[in-house]
Amino acid sequence: MVVEKRNPIPVKEAIERIVKQQSSMGTLTVSLNDSLGHILAEDIVATYDIPRFNKSPYDGFAIRSQDSAVANGQHRVEFKVIDHIGAGSVSNKIVGDHEAVRIMTGAQVPEGADAVVMFEQTIEQEDTFTIRKPFAKNENISLKGEETTTGDLVLKKGQTVNPGVIAVLATYGYTEVKVVKQPSVAVIATGSELLDVSDELEEGKIRNSNGPMIKALAEKIGLEVGVYRTQEDDLASGIQIVKEAMSEHDIVITTGGVSVGDFDYLPEIYKAIGAEVLFNKVAMRPGSVTTVAFAQGKYLFGLSGNPSACFTGFELFVKTAVRHMCGALEIYPQIIKATLMEDFTKANPFSRFIRAKATLTTAGATVVPSGFNKSGAVVAIAHANAMIMLPGGSRGFKAGHTVDVILTESNAYEEELTL
Ligand code: AMP
Ligand code: MG
Repeated sequence: MVVEKRNPIPVKEAIERIVKQQSSMGTLTVSLNDSLGHILAEDIVATYDIPRFNKSPYDGFAIRSQDSAVANGQHRVEFKVIDHIGAGSVSNKIVGDHEAVRIMTGAQVPEGADAVVMFEQTIEQEDTFTIRKPFAKNENISLKGEETTTGDLVLKKGQTVNPGVIAVLATYGYTEVKVVKQPSVAVIATGSELLDVSDELEEGKIRNSNGPMIKALAEKIGLEVGVYRTQEDDLASGIQIVKEAMSEHDIVITTGGVSVGDFDYLPEIYKAIGAEVLFNKVAMRPGSVTTVAFAQGKYLFGLSGNPSACFTGFELFVKTAVRHMCGALEIYPQIIKATLMEDFTKANPFSRFIRAKATLTTAGATVVPSGFNKSGAVVAIAHANAMIMLPGGSRGFKAGHTVDVILTESNAYEEELTL
């Protein structure tokens, strides 16, 4: 068998080839309660001003500012209270000369009034109070439309629905919203050495850890996952299961079988189903054999069987593709600069991705590898919230160097707040 020559391409190029494909999911309408984590499929335009009316941000008295002009410590000015309203109520009185309406937070400022005096700024009597300072027009008033006005583009199509988006949608009375359908994912572990989680160990065999990990990675970003039976390294059944998975899902992820070994059948499988291979070698470690193919608007990810490489491939390529398919505005991995806290002296002919623990503190970000870091490593994945990215062609890094880091989790930290 002649081993085909593969040309490694930079990670950046691999990602560009992925996002260049025409692949988009349809839309669906979900209830506001089920919209969290989806991508908006429509722009959200303000249907009214926020706030909708001039309102009081405090508990106090609504007055005419002009009546307070001469107030000072020696000469307190007195007001007569003519009405009393809570949030949700509207006064039908018009505030006149040296009159005031007792008003609670959130209530509409009554006609005639143009300032609010907080309780703490008054001395109260029966149905009068005095103040000792002048108030400016609109002082202590949340003005109609000060946040957004009718017709403003408030949220753009492609925005992820976060709790704040839900608050905006609720404000405008959306009981339902149009979002992008999430792609569904097929997970197929390949390798004749693989046992199920529940199996007793046997000579020469290992348990399939990638399958459950990929399922979890996909579920963590809100995708529906179908797990297929583990595949022996066999071409005919491999073709059949990939075809079956493609007919049932938008994305097919396999692990294992993408190298150039005698039983690595994924390249043959892609050929057999007529998929266009976008790349089959990336200038990165681990996971240089990571292969991505495209067929009928669907992505096929051939992730390496090595757990750390499999994880890295998912973070870099699968996540980006999913965001692209969903028309997300933000599709690339989030990268920060951090100070490396340990030497990492291995040379890097290819770009290197190291499972790592990043700590973001008020003094800046620091990062350390999260454990034994060969491509076959599994425990370090569990301790990672980030990946260190070291550029290819570098000679190794020392503690104190600044490195690029991809954040893979948003975690809380041990350090206490300083405020
Ligand atoms: P492969 O990508 O098939 O060449 O496999 C690379 C390495 O990863 C080998 O040591 C495999 O035994 C191991 N491996 C393959 N698939 C899995 C899996 N699903 N879970 C854990 N390890 C795996
Ligand atoms: Mg294999």
